[in-house]
Amino acid sequence: MKRHFTLSTAALVFLVTTTSRAATGIPAFYGDAPDEHHPWAVHDPNRPQPKAVTPGTFSSQEQPGKPPSDAVILFDGTDLSKWQSAGDGGGPAKWVVKDGLLIVEPKTGDIRTREEFGDCQLHVEWAETPDVQGSSQGRGNSGIFLMGRVEIQVLDSYHNVTYADGHAASVYGVNPPLVNAIRPPGEFQVYDIVFRRPVYKDGKAIDPGSVTVFVNGVLEQDHTPLEGPTGHMRRTHPVPFPEKGPLKLQDHGNPVRFRNIWYRPLPPNSLEGGTDGPLTTEATMAKRKEIAAAIRKDAEQLKDPANPVPQMLRLMESLEYDSDPATVQLVQDMGKHYVESLKELPADKIAGKREQVREVNGAFRFLIRFKVLPATFPPAEDIAAIVREQRWDRKQ
Ligand code: MG
Repeated sequence: MKRHFTLSTAALVFLVTTTSRAATGIPAFYGDAPDEHHPWAVHDPNRPQPKAVTPGTFSSQEQPGKPPSDAVILFDGTDLSKWQSAGDGGGPAKWVVKDGLLIVEPKTGDIRTREEFGDCQLHVEWAETPDVQGSSQGRGNSGIFLMGRVEIQVLDSYHNVTYADGHAASVYGVNPPLVNAIRPPGEFQVYDIVFRRPVYKDGKAIDPGSVTVFVNGVLEQDHTPLEGPTGHMRRTHPVPFPEKGPLKLQDHGNPVRFRNIWYRPLPPNSLEGGTDGPLTTEATMAKRKEIAAAIRKDAEQLKDPANPVPQMLRLMESLEYDSDPATVQLVQDMGKHYVESLKELPADKIAGKREQVREVNGAFRFLIRFKVLPATFPPAEDIAAIVREQRWDRKQ
């Protein structure tokens, strides 16, 4: 079953600026109700709209692309203001900025961002010099250390043989890239990385963290689990990470050139308070209570003694998320009064209530179907009886 909705611009603006669902035109009591792992219903009108982001542009060899509107810029070709030396004493980064490029100045040490961050989408472009020298790990080596800990290798892997777990885009010492999509030296390589740090609870890893890497648009790390901080020659082991860390770039003695470095922080992992993705029952139920409270607050604004139905429907909606006994009782009382008011209507006036009564009946049936209300809820039975008597359950 599929319905089509049209929303006016005004309705859309209203939709994103208020918790009220009344003006959106998206129906409630529609898709499957929230359950123990999903705080929202399927097609839930109360689920927040995604934030609008203006996308950037792709890079060409000649020119870096434009970052998306919500990106945090780490290097835009102008200066090193976002960077410092990664050495113990800190101090200014000693790499060179020239012709819009950030160039490793060999033997001056690694550099790191002043800013620290955790889970992110990271974009980095880099190029070897056209006359790159050396072989294996000595050929155009640098590196991108996520949170200063996990190295995504930078290396001239074009027609260069080295250990597989040390190629460009490897998780160094842990996992080789799926393929080698590196361009010849002199050309820019584009890394798009999605990084999730490990999540620990009570000293145990409940999510190892992961890294996904696209190189020049080709998938090279596919949600690869993290195994711990990068080392050399030694097997690494999982450990907790802090919440944030700097992005570090490696001085491996080769004049690798970088440009167009930016990141976008990611929303929290669902195991750490994020509300999209697989949720624990505990987190789901907490979120459902929060949604229900917001809807009840919104329902207060709909209070109108002359027309109590919108408030009653909104309160009924809140029960999908949290079957709070006081609200159930309130809905029962409001439903009872509504049924009484319908029964008092003269025969020629009842026809005008058809759509409203059908809507209330549909809402009760939905809540009973998903066991939010008991099958024998009194106002629901009375409303259903009216629908049957009026033959409003038949197609016209
Ligand atoms: Mg390296």
